[in-house]
Amino acid sequence: MSHIGHYLSGAITAGTSGQSQDVYNPATGEVISQVALASADEVNKAVAAAKAAWPAWAALPVLRRARIMDKFKNIVNERAAILAEAISTEHGKTHDDALGEVTRGVEVVEFSTSAPSFMKGEYSEDVGTGVDSHMIRQPLGVVAGITPFNFPAMVPMWMFPMALVTGNCFILKPSERDPSASLLLAQWLSEAGVPDGVFNVVQGDKLAVDTLLHHDDIRAVSFVGSTPIAQYIHATGTANGKRVQALGGAKNHMVIMPDADLDMAASALIGAAYGSAGERCMAISVAVPVTDAVADALIDKLVPQIEALKIGPATDKATDMGPLVTQAAKDRANDYVSRGEAQGAKVVVDGRGFTQDKQGYENGFYVGGSLLDNVTEDMDCYRDEIFGPVLSVVRKNSYQEAVDLIHGHNYANGTAIFTRDGDVARNFSKDIEVGMVGVNVPIPVPMAYHSFGGWKSSIFGEHHMHGMEGVRFYTRIKTTTTRWPSGMRSDPQFTMPTLG
Ligand code: NAD
Repeated sequence: MSHIGHYLSGAITAGTSGQSQDVYNPATGEVISQVALASADEVNKAVAAAKAAWPAWAALPVLRRARIMDKFKNIVNERAAILAEAISTEHGKTHDDALGEVTRGVEVVEFSTSAPSFMKGEYSEDVGTGVDSHMIRQPLGVVAGITPFNFPAMVPMWMFPMALVTGNCFILKPSERDPSASLLLAQWLSEAGVPDGVFNVVQGDKLAVDTLLHHDDIRAVSFVGSTPIAQYIHATGTANGKRVQALGGAKNHMVIMPDADLDMAASALIGAAYGSAGERCMAISVAVPVTDAVADALIDKLVPQIEALKIGPATDKATDMGPLVTQAAKDRANDYVSRGEAQGAKVVVDGRGFTQDKQGYENGFYVGGSLLDNVTEDMDCYRDEIFGPVLSVVRKNSYQEAVDLIHGHNYANGTAIFTRDGDVARNFSKDIEVGMVGVNVPIPVPMAYHSFGGWKSSIFGEHHMHGMEGVRFYTRIKTTTTRWPSGMRSDPQFTMPTLG
């Protein structure tokens, strides 16, 4: 059985802690490898390697760092299929979905290549008589990224391209459920010219994370994952003096207004609720049709499409929806359908009994798509993030009721409205208290040169990811004020300096 190790000082290294964890192929239900779980000592070695590499990396002209990222971008593009296959094997998502994830990650790498432009400082001549002032951005030092299972390539690429190009060294702690993508990315960074020690991967669990959170030489921590862990990372990291951005879970609502194109809304919902088996933080998990007539018509359009979903392994090109990542994730999704039913929701399409009859895949972690109607605010299936292919329909009678519903939820990552009414669309995008909004766009993931992040319990910390928010997070500002001898006064000044 293969053993997945760390990436330290430019080389893959086997774990030495004696601790490891099974990695599954969710399509078959089989254990396919073991991933090392780092000891505190191993994490400390990675941080020491990054710290040693930092002065030379930070001193490299930004254009050179950007050129290395450009080379890395080309390598990832050339080998996208290899990365996608590694993702699908351990995560279960379809090959095309994995390729889409790689593309969205590479877009951040592409944005990072414009670093010479966004790292430019500001200069003001004559802030006083004979006095000039300039501002520059400098890197923080060694920073860490802790990432979730659902995007094992894209989410790390939200972080490290921005961190590296701005002159920081990076320690990645990927999800222990699908660790292979991290090692491919690490090797390709080295091949592109990233010096040894600048980018390191430590595989591991809570012990590795806690070691990073308490390490004096870690300056900043980027986290993406579930809300309870995001809250913990933010509280612990900031208590230890670190800059922290921690993105958490989601429950994304899509409002369908009476004037919406219902065919378009229904097919958008199918992709957004059941794509990647619902394991996306931007998945739509709540449909909010405005009026019962809209709800009935929408459900009529959804049901045949949910029942027609082709559920299978990523190796089958016809597959629409792969398995969930673990048996526990499968049980959890089914349990929420049962609890919804017990609490009064109507199970319109029931994914619980799905069985996979493809030979060799009978034990995979598959569930069918489920559709729950008459869901109300108090039900567990509404309040909690299920992270599976379960769509809840909450019926509302007006636009305002739909907005109030969204405002009553503690998650506020993404949301969407489907309407042809410009006024309604404009008011929604302006007033809704959610971080990312789609108008007739079900999954409004911002482009790399904008920034990604939610509000409320979907984020802890001030900075969203990538775009200019990424630059701000991974740099600190220094402002120098210069007076030239010809403008110097010879007498001491005891008052606050003012424009002279
Ligand atoms: P998770 O919170 O279980 O794990 C995320 C990371 O934290 C992993 O690297 C894991 O090893 C580590 N971790 C887990 N438990 C820990 C603990 N007790 N102490 C310290 N570290 C710990 O999340 P997941 O199941 O891998 O990913 C799914 C979650 O991520 C969902 O909630 C999803 O909404 C969220 N997510 C959010 C975004 C976003 O941008 N807001 C994007 C993707 C995923």
